Amino acid sequence: MKHFKKTKTESKKHQKVLNELIMVLGGEKVLSAIEDRICYSYDGTKQKALPDIVVRPGCTSDVSNTLKIANKYEIPIYARGAGTGLTGGAVPLMGGIVLDLKSMNRIIEICPEDFVATVEPGVVTKHFQDEIAKFDLFYPPDPSSAAFSTIGGNVAECAGGITGLKYGVTRDYILALEIVLSDGSVINTGRKTLRSVTGYDLTRLFIGSEGTLGVFTRITVKLIPKPKKIETLAAYFSDRDDAIDAADLIIDNNILPRTLEFMDQMTISAVRGYGEAPIGEDVKALLLIDIDGTEESISHELPVVENACKEKKAFKTKVAETPRERESIWAVRRSISPALYNIAPHKINEDICVPRSKIKEILQKVDQINEHQTIYIANFGHIGDGNIHVNIMYNDDPGQAALAESIVNKIMREVVAVGGTISGEHGIGNKKSQFMELEISPKELAIMKRFKGFFDPKGIMNPGKMFI
Ligand SMILES: Cc1cc2nc3c(=O)[nH]c(=O)nc-3n(C[C@H](O)[C@H](O)[C@H](O)COP(=O)(O)OP(=O)(O)OC[C@H]3O[C@@H](n4cnc5c(N)ncnc54)[C@H](O)[C@@H]3O)c2cc1C
Repeated sequence: MKHFKKTKTESKKHQKVLNELIMVLGGEKVLSAIEDRICYSYDGTKQKALPDIVVRPGCTSDVSNTLKIANKYEIPIYARGAGTGLTGGAVPLMGGIVLDLKSMNRIIEICPEDFVATVEPGVVTKHFQDEIAKFDLFYPPDPSSAAFSTIGGNVAECAGGITGLKYGVTRDYILALEIVLSDGSVINTGRKTLRSVTGYDLTRLFIGSEGTLGVFTRITVKLIPKPKKIETLAAYFSDRDDAIDAADLIIDNNILPRTLEFMDQMTISAVRGYGEAPIGEDVKALLLIDIDGTEESISHELPVVENACKEKKAFKTKVAETPRERESIWAVRRSISPALYNIAPHKINEDICVPRSKIKEILQKVDQINEHQTIYIANFGHIGDGNIHVNIMYNDDPGQAALAESIVNKIMREVVAVGGTISGEHGIGNKKSQFMELEISPKELAIMKRFKGFFDPKGIMNPGKMFI
């Protein structure tokens, strides 16, 4: 674990910061015991770096006061939701203060008549979805981590998820933000209206900013009516390209499924035993499809989707007949992340996104890059959006980690070459900052860094992330 040895002057400075934080916020919101700091040293990447202090604010003024103190002493500060990020965003790489926003978890208001709701950043996404469902409303952004990740973390990463093709991603549902800037001042962007075009769109600038520009303390989101019904279909293929063709044909038929998820053979081999009905050895690619809408729309769309799969050589299709069958099909999808460790103990999880027409080409390139097959690569994900999770799995043998990194490097170059992006939903953090220049030109990078310099002149907000 990274742990910065401090000089005498630095230690004195940290003691002053700690004392001041305790004085302003009260002792119960400020933690500095080693066991507390360890709990905030990691995220979903398995990287570890120890913070010096953890602050657990209860309200916007606690966040503001913490940032004023961090700014005064020029101490790094890292906003943190649930720590499920997959690119190192919440890891306190340079020591300093972790700001744990999970206690700010109130749903402030739900306005069914206006189709908007306002929440604090620490609200867990699934909990919020369940609460608004009581009003027959729907908040679609649905990362697979929804049961534990926070809306604040989702906004900071512009999280995607399985419903993106039909409903869009987090960005498409954020109307307004209350943000605490690096000097502790508070700004409000956007309006609680479904449209607003007044001035520059500061809200969008902050969405996906990964805690490098400011801390969200209130988030106003757009809601939509909850679809009346969902049907689930699994389609089994003996050829990867057939599954990709079937996904294309479904969309060519003017149908946008609620979810259109893909798994390749390596992924299937990892999850084969999960779910109630084990997946046969003959299945080399799988599509999991949800269709939502009304009884009438589904009765039209489901046969079209099933026929498209059959036309593209699905050798079996299965429509879930009961909620339990549906749950069993989706349990397989949800098990992928942990199940991949059945293949090898280490994983680099990339979330490339390419134009849908380039999916076959990029997967062929990935095969070619790994032609000697000493590393295992499992591909799955949101095929309708072209957002494929390419998981490079490797073991502890000498040279394997370096080989995996070099494979990632080559894949990133190919992705950008076909017009794709190095991250469809997980963000950059420190894990992908080395690849930013592949996709973003020097001129655009310079503009981004000027924004960063404007909002965070002392460089205290999540240092070491996004830019090298
Ligand atoms: C099993 C699993 C499945 C996943 N599936 C998906 C998926 O389908 N789609 C997807 O997009 N992601 C997915 N993720 C990644 C992760 O869950 C998302 O990036 C999520 O949005 C992170 O939320 P969090 O609350 O855990 O944030 P954290 O990991 O705590 O923080 C993430 C970033 O947000 C910043 N941040 C957090 N809160 C705030 C705030 N209030 N203000 C400003 N900055 C803040 C942090 O500084 C950090 O840079 C998955 C992760 C796991 C472990």
